[in-house]
Amino acid sequence: MSAIGSLVFCTDCGSLLDGSIGDPSKILICDICGAKNKDTVPQTIVSESKPSAFPSSLRAKRSAVQTLTAEDRKTEALAQHTCAQCGRKEMYFTTVQLRSADEGSTVFYTCVCGYK
Ligand SMILES: [Zn+2]
Ligand SMILES: [Zn+2]
Repeated sequence: MSAIGSLVFCTDCGSLLDGSIGDPSKILICDICGAKNKDTVPQTIVSESKPSAFPSSLRAKRSAVQTLTAEDRKTEALAQHTCAQCGRKEMYFTTVQLRSADEGSTVFYTCVCGYK
């Protein structure tokens, strides 16, 4: 055995590939996702704490979903509305869709001072 650290990870899913001999001409096939990886030992040992080191499309998709969800939950936006309590010209507003469609949506204004 040549070296400690001759661990080759799948570039697609990040799982450890067996059978690495450090020969760049050899192709290692991932057991998990079937991706073909070159048997090259990277200079830097990739750690789990660096998800950006794995340009996985699945991971990218997952983060996109997370971003969308976060934006969905944050429904408040700034509006030109003067607060009756502190006189600020900008207030956050949240639109709430009521049950019956003909009721339309109700807008709630919230100020940074806590006034609603
Ligand atoms: Zn893989
Ligand atoms: Zn206010």
